Amino acid sequence: MGLFGSLNLNNNEQKSEKKQKDPSEHIQVLIIGSGPAGYTAGIYAARAGLKPVIYQGMQAGGQLMDTTEVENFPGYPQGITGPVLMEDLQKQAERFGTDIRWGEVTSVDLSKKPYTAVIDEDIVVTADAIIIATGASAKYLGLESEMRLRGGGVSACATCDGFFYREKIVAVVGGGDTAAEEALYLSTLAAKVYLIVRKPEMRASKIMQKRVLNNPKIEVLFEHNTLEVLGDKNVNAVKLVKHQGQDNEEIYDLPIDGFFLAIGHKPNSDIFKEFVNTDEVGYIVTEGKTSKTNVPGVFACGDVQDSSYRQAVTAAGSGCMAALDAERYISETEFNEKE
Ligand code: NDP
Repeated sequence: MGLFGSLNLNNNEQKSEKKQKDPSEHIQVLIIGSGPAGYTAGIYAARAGLKPVIYQGMQAGGQLMDTTEVENFPGYPQGITGPVLMEDLQKQAERFGTDIRWGEVTSVDLSKKPYTAVIDEDIVVTADAIIIATGASAKYLGLESEMRLRGGGVSACATCDGFFYREKIVAVVGGGDTAAEEALYLSTLAAKVYLIVRKPEMRASKIMQKRVLNNPKIEVLFEHNTLEVLGDKNVNAVKLVKHQGQDNEEIYDLPIDGFFLAIGHKPNSDIFKEFVNTDEVGYIVTEGKTSKTNVPGVFACGDVQDSSYRQAVTAAGSGCMAALDAERYISETEFNEKE
């Protein structure tokens, strides 16, 4: 509590402000997040009889709700839209008894068992095991036009949407390994790829830079920033500013069909960081090939612990792992308590 708060409150008021509500419910396996990882964890945990409860979070269905066609999720030879895929996964989890609820987990206490989670800063629940499947959010530049044209040519996932730009002209923003990788991937499909890099050099590893610079389809626009994405319903150009020394700028429109963001992702791990180990970017660290975090009984799956693959199918696979790890943890804990 801040200094002014302490001065303005007497002791009783301080206590009542600090006191958390009593838990309204005890849950065996609490799953936080409703992307492919969370729903798959729900399917497995429910089939194992663990009565899982999923709190869906701010964006029910996760990042795939922003995607149009998904053509690389196994089992859908004709492709499927992101929202329908997530609806199917939700139904499949519900079919085995997963209790799926609206609500965002706004804080947790993982310092003692049973673990506590607060939903929407109001409802308090306890849980024997927690599966964190809160995903990651792609970073955007923050332009109004960029938000408006999401799904109309603006994308933060070349692997998901690149296929729709066969023989088209696209631009990728960013100078890191992701941007290099996405530009190289898009160069196998598109007729031309511009890579918009804000500095005079790229941050990507040397080998990736070399590949990008040697690719005849990729043109790197160093010292360029994006001012606006242009287009009514679909992207048709991007307004760029080229910096040429301190007071010398050139503003121009570059015709393109697709605009890809590759300026990094932010794992949604903030509320867990006090208890769970994360790397320098914020990705939750899991143990070896498991979903175990440093807190016994707390598991992480999907993009919140994966900076490398970030695919719907890999997230689903890791959701399965987390449910199996939770099942083992619960049965071992029960066994130890009976001993
Ligand atoms: P990074 O943080 O490494 O790079 C982000 C890039 O986006 C930087 O070039 C940065 O510019 C640029 N950027 C950030 N904000 C803006 C903005 N507002 N406008 C314009 N440009 C912006 O993120 P990545 O996703 O590329 O990589 C994350 C991690 O994953 C890294 O450690 C990377 O090495 C790793 N990775 C490895 C891969 C591989 O090995 N195959 C593949 C993909 C990722 P600036 O440089 O000026 O700050």
